[in-house]
Amino acid sequence: MKLIPFVYLTIDPTDSSNTLRTGKLSIFIRPEYFIGTSLETHIADLESIVSNEEFFTIIKKDDEVKPIWILLVDGGPDENPKHMKNIIQYAHLFRALNLDYLTVRTHAPGQSAYNPVERDMTSLSAKLASITLPFSGKRLCDIWRRDDIHGKPVTVKYIDKEIIPFNEFDSSTSWEWIENHAQICRYSLDIKKCKNRECCSENRATDAMLLLDENDGFLFPITKGKDGHFINPIHTLQYYDKLKILLYDRCCPSISQELHQQLYCNICGKYFPTLKFMKEHKRNVHSKRHSQNNKQLKRTHNETELECVVIPF
Ligand SMILES: [Zn+2]
Ligand SMILES: [Zn+2]
Repeated sequence: MKLIPFVYLTIDPTDSSNTLRTGKLSIFIRPEYFIGTSLETHIADLESIVSNEEFFTIIKKDDEVKPIWILLVDGGPDENPKHMKNIIQYAHLFRALNLDYLTVRTHAPGQSAYNPVERDMTSLSAKLASITLPFSGKRLCDIWRRDDIHGKPVTVKYIDKEIIPFNEFDSSTSWEWIENHAQICRYSLDIKKCKNRECCSENRATDAMLLLDENDGFLFPITKGKDGHFINPIHTLQYYDKLKILLYDRCCPSISQELHQQLYCNICGKYFPTLKFMKEHKRNVHSKRHSQNNKQLKRTHNETELECVVIPF
């Protein structure tokens, strides 16, 4: 029986180490046969982490889930935030946790080696390879639980049934909701509360939201500085009026200048990372016929595993 590990590294931002090598690892092991490894499975894992007392000091403040989350994910199709089915799941997570702000950032192609979870996975695989006896999932949990990986404490769970996250699926994510709460870019998805109190509750992280509001309300996606290095998005935000900030995704080599011009709406200036999204935007927002349309988007499934870093603020 093939077992698939789903690995999550939760980082405490108040930890003074800058290496991203600290934090707490969670591993969920599932038998391959029952996995439809969609983002829904990963969201269920995140829910399990949120409700695990061992993570309370990192995840919670004053008994509430911290209001700003950063998810660093691999760019695989089951977690890449540019796919609509994933955007809907992330929106669901955002609402279920009553977050003020959720940013999902992917590693660009070829950059996965910099994912700290990948490095931990190498260590896990080496341990697994050195074991010759056939192990059940529960036995494997015991083995991985016993020793720290790169000095990080590990929690391991064996799961052989499907868990639907947050008990029920909330299908109320419409295109309109996405327009009003999200900025989608090639390698990032940012979701924030809107100002309509009938739709979203008051922000909890008021200072951070004020800083964002001084911009267009969102953290910048991947942006290169003049020296060719990628800039920390919070620094970009802090100094945005002092630097010549490029337009969204302008520094992505996969987007030509010609295509890039078409990705900014020529009517309202909103950016989308694909022409398909732009078409959907124009159809929903600028076409009279569809302006009243608040169509529900369907959820779908897909495959592969996620290595994910969670940084709640
Ligand atoms: Zn809202
Ligand atoms: Zn527009």
